[in-house]
Amino acid sequence: MVDYLESAIARGMTEFGVSDHGPAYFLPGDHPLPGTQMAGSELSRYVDEALCHQEDYADRIAVKVGLEADFIEGQEAVLGRVLEAHPFDYVLGSVHYVGNASVFSRARWQTERAEDTYAEYYRLVQLAAASGLFDSLSHLTVIEAYGPPVGDDLVTRLYAPVARAVAASGCTVEINTSGYRKMGGDEPFPNRRMLRELIACGVPLTFGADSHRPDEVGFGRERAAALLHELGVRTDAPQRVSTRRGSLLAFRTR
Ligand SMILES: [Zn+2]
Repeated sequence: MVDYLESAIARGMTEFGVSDHGPAYFLPGDHPLPGTQMAGSELSRYVDEALCHQEDYADRIAVKVGLEADFIEGQEAVLGRVLEAHPFDYVLGSVHYVGNASVFSRARWQTERAEDTYAEYYRLVQLAAASGLFDSLSHLTVIEAYGPPVGDDLVTRLYAPVARAVAASGCTVEINTSGYRKMGGDEPFPNRRMLRELIACGVPLTFGADSHRPDEVGFGRERAAALLHELGVRTDAPQRVSTRRGSLLAFRTR
């Protein structure tokens, strides 16, 4: 954590959120997904460590104590209990699973139709927004980067309701630059077409590099800012936007 904070300070940041992958609370056992998610029993230690750094670094950078949490339909109450047990400044909501497969899976496309799976993904995103569990929704549209392209008409049909639902929920959306590191690499998550819809609905956008290494902190922020500028969003002065648990720095879109 210290390495990430030092990296953020070296890059001139004034505020930095830590948001490790929370436990896989929706599977049995304490540590069902080692290597990608922390054990349930590690969560308290993670939060305590982040709170310590928040205090220690207070005069150098504002540290927000966060978590990236999976949204699983039907498990909202379970997640709610996990989150309420800790004083998070913010929680990122992620749809990582559609059906029984990960959004990063490529094998699924041998048996699934993109139209159906994308529609299901965006239905879950809308439920995640409306759940009241999250402050920001992470890496929207990621599933499409790992799946087959679909026609413009489908995109139009799917995206507008998502943008309206997110706007109504009061959630912010993370502009996540890991899209520039993965796959063809020319779009962030959400992709620019989804960003256009979200901006049209006035959804504030937080910045996240999805850094999994300290040198990825702030990755692609100039590029993301240039894209937002092109889409008509002011990026020179991010503002504090109220969220469910408090506030986050975000680019306002209205
Ligand atoms: Zn994620």
